Amino acid sequence: MILHICCAPCGGGCVERVKEEGGRPVLFYSNSNLNSLEEFERRLACVRQLAESQQIELVVDPYDHESWLKAVRGYENEPEQGERCRHCFRFSLTRTALFAGERKFCTTLTVSPRKRSKVIFEIGARWENFVPEDFKKRDGYRRSCEIARECGFYRQNYCGCEFSLRDNGGNDENNLS
Ligand code: SF4
Repeated sequence: MILHICCAPCGGGCVERVKEEGGRPVLFYSNSNLNSLEEFERRLACVRQLAESQQIELVVDPYDHESWLKAVRGYENEPEQGERCRHCFRFSLTRTALFAGERKFCTTLTVSPRKRSKVIFEIGARWENFVPEDFKKRDGYRRSCEIARECGFYRQNYCGCEFSLRDNGGNDENNLS
């Protein structure tokens, strides 16, 4: 199972779930939506830590924010959970699908209470091998937060793009608690 991963704080519970269900996840870190390469590397460092602790493979999709900006052009002023996010999800899922080929894939994006799984599943439905796994079910978000605290993962307090940072008042401090 290819598991598209946005960050380690979301990913911990998802990796655990896939393993519980008998799968062996390969992590695909695709995060061109992030506002800077520095933030991309910062989140990647914790994803590497997660992959190593779980002894699973990690593949990194090169950062390409210019292409992402083109994909969301015209939606910059949408609020989080609006149309910009739909295009953002499509962008990352398309890259994941290209990497997955015929293998099954799903995404950690569904673990966040701030992301509507229904929208993610509507986008994913275009690929036969997309698995609509709703990681927020069965207390998935709480479990991911628990693992993040135990492992001391950097946990950002904005979604990732410059527009979400703007709407958060520019506050990008770690909010792990
Ligand atoms: S707020 Fe998050 S999901 Fe929405 S466009 Fe920005 S990075 Fe993507």
